[in-house]
Amino acid sequence: MGMQIQPKVIIHGGAGSSLHSKGGVESIRKDLRDIVEEIYGKLLAGADAKMAVIYGCHMLEDNPCFNAGKGSVLQSDGQVRMSASLMDGAAQRFSGVINVSRVQHPTDLAAFLQDCDDRVLSDYGSAELAREMCLPVFDPATELRLKEWQQERANHFQKAMAGVVAEKELIDTSARRGTIGVVVLDSEGRLAAGTSTGGKGLERIGRVSDSAMPAGNYANPFAGISCTGIGEDIIDECLAPRIVIRVTDGLSLGQAFARSFTEAEQNGRDFGAIGIDRTGAIAWGKTSDVLLAAYHTGTDIGDTLEQGIGTMTGTC
Ligand code: ASP
Repeated sequence: MGMQIQPKVIIHGGAGSSLHSKGGVESIRKDLRDIVEEIYGKLLAGADAKMAVIYGCHMLEDNPCFNAGKGSVLQSDGQVRMSASLMDGAAQRFSGVINVSRVQHPTDLAAFLQDCDDRVLSDYGSAELAREMCLPVFDPATELRLKEWQQERANHFQKAMAGVVAEKELIDTSARRGTIGVVVLDSEGRLAAGTSTGGKGLERIGRVSDSAMPAGNYANPFAGISCTGIGEDIIDECLAPRIVIRVTDGLSLGQAFARSFTEAEQNGRDFGAIGIDRTGAIAWGKTSDVLLAAYHTGTDIGDTLEQGIGTMTGTC
């Protein structure tokens, strides 16, 4: 057994414009903090980084406030198509599914693919895999998401993307997303990252999210990152590997976030990211108004819900 390290966890539930109400903030804060605490408990009980990431993704996919698994947003044609990926930093191995329907936990498909020769599957292949794994058919659409889509249809789809993120009631707002992500460092120094999404919402059929690409979810033995926000912006910055490689080449995690988010601001991007490095540093950054993230340092639990509007990075 290697040296014992104090485990770390950071999770996110999306980035976007400010939360609608103070009540909304408090309720999401509680959900995120409870989940981060549960993941930490799993790590203390012996789960490795990858297992803890899968466990955390399940909890977030099950929470209908977030745009992943149950509660995913509907695409332009009124259907749910989800994408998820998992990266084992120690093995430096990526796996994922793109635009899968009718499963409860898209993360389970990505986890299964970790040990396969073919590790990223799109729609048909993902559906076949779900059948092969005997996963029960599950409809992730909720009444609230359906109402939001109907409202958009009544407005002749004026918005470029769904107006939701981690809100428990129907509200009229724009540029809100609720993708989920989990990054973990375990007690043996292994890193893993997972990201799961219903996409931007209202997108054209076949659009591919960053969440099932290395651009949105990447880890190696030095650092692990999960991103959220406008997928096209995340892809254009190649955000997750950009930060990970900076850390690999010698920057601290905080410096890597600060440099990458300064560039993102200059390039007019709209997204957020969370990460952990092998020393146990935790960091987050955003160009969006708000990033819904919570972390566990081993001694403290904190969150980023009220960290001010605009570009910002933080470490702990
Ligand atoms: N990045 C996701 C996508 O563009 C959306 C999100 O993070 O909320 O598919």
